[in-house]
Amino acid sequence: KPKIIPFSQHGVRRDGLSYAARKVVTRLQEAGFSAYVVGGAVRDLMLGVQPKDFDIATNATPEQVHHLFRRSRIIGRRFRIVHVMVGPETIEVTTFRGGEVASKSDSGRIMADNTYGSQEEDAHRRDFTVNALFYDPAEETVVDYHHGAKDLHAKKLVMIGQPAKRYQEDPVRMLRAVRLAAKLGFEIDDATRKPIAAHAHLLKKEPPARLFDEMLKLLHSGHAYACLNKLRDEGLSSGIFPLLDAVMDDSGGQAFIKLALDSTDERIRADKPVSVGFLLATLLWQQVNQRWQGYQRDGEKPIPALMSAMADVESEQDNEFAIPRRFSATMREIWTLQPRFDSRVGQRPFRLVEQPRFRAAYDFLMLRAEVGEVPMSLAKWWGDFQDADDDERLEMIRTAK
Ligand code: ATP
Ligand code: MG
Repeated sequence: KPKIIPFSQHGVRRDGLSYAARKVVTRLQEAGFSAYVVGGAVRDLMLGVQPKDFDIATNATPEQVHHLFRRSRIIGRRFRIVHVMVGPETIEVTTFRGGEVASKSDSGRIMADNTYGSQEEDAHRRDFTVNALFYDPAEETVVDYHHGAKDLHAKKLVMIGQPAKRYQEDPVRMLRAVRLAAKLGFEIDDATRKPIAAHAHLLKKEPPARLFDEMLKLLHSGHAYACLNKLRDEGLSSGIFPLLDAVMDDSGGQAFIKLALDSTDERIRADKPVSVGFLLATLLWQQVNQRWQGYQRDGEKPIPALMSAMADVESEQDNEFAIPRRFSATMREIWTLQPRFDSRVGQRPFRLVEQPRFRAAYDFLMLRAEVGEVPMSLAKWWGDFQDADDDERLEMIRTAK
């Protein structure tokens, strides 16, 4: 029943796969199983984009896969998948899923999803048609059950099955629609887009950790600014997670966020690392800064005023949306160092540049200067101070005003 698309129509060569992906598929096939590259990697290859990672779907059970690869381990309790390590790469191998949805809550949400099935059933459980393509490197063919190739060429994101039902099963699919559309430059098909606004509230019941993960993917997509705007356009921002509300708050400070996200997007596209702590610090800064200014107007000194402001904002975020500690610690350090850029006397500048987070805090100061929050001359001074030798530094401190 599926369409088997030959090389002449999709143009994806087997050497577009990573060494590890090819090796894992080949070994499974040689052992008599069927195995395909699946999901985002096939989609990206057909679009001429280098995939970030390769997922493989097979009819071998996790135990059978594990048995074939010495360097592999079975992970997960509900969905058991196998990680196969080949050189520096890790390939995720999943057994075709299928069967009836094992159990559903009252709202139709999938609670468990762990029965094995055929390739066709596996395709049917994936989210968008362009994400349900299978690539066989031996034959260089693409197996297409849901007109994914057609939608890919039309640059359309189309939900498999009934969109409203699929969002009820798993509300995170709404966030994925927005993220993938922004990332790929696709339109969300009308029927797929329409039910989003009415189902947006379902996201509030999702586990915060899963939402945070999806939020991170969005911020790392290379199109973070476009994604966030699209979330707002689709009615997915307000009241879902406080972090997004903070970002979408229109009471000024948009310029700062745009600047920060644009530079993040640029770094991602240039394959440079981005710090999540830094990003969160920028996203929440307007909230902190407004309160910081407020406490200072009420007569508090800058540093205690900043501490109070940070505590307020963090407790608001914490209610429903815990930011993991490994990120919040960096975020807090970047904020805490900001008032210290104001004192350029004695030993203080020397001590400040020795702080482990100095560089991040300085980049943050630069963003503040670019939106006119602090004088550019101050940011420049710190830029020069970093590069200066000890004598020059003493002279800079002596003449600082
Ligand atoms: P990216 O390029 O961002 O990795 P992706 O489509 O590969 O995008 P993954 O999260 O890596 O996204 O998921 C891999 C595949 O698993 C998807 O292409 C899709 O087929 C399927 N999938 C992922 N999440 C869901 C979901 N919530 N519902 C149904 N299928 C999903
Ligand atoms: Mg992927």
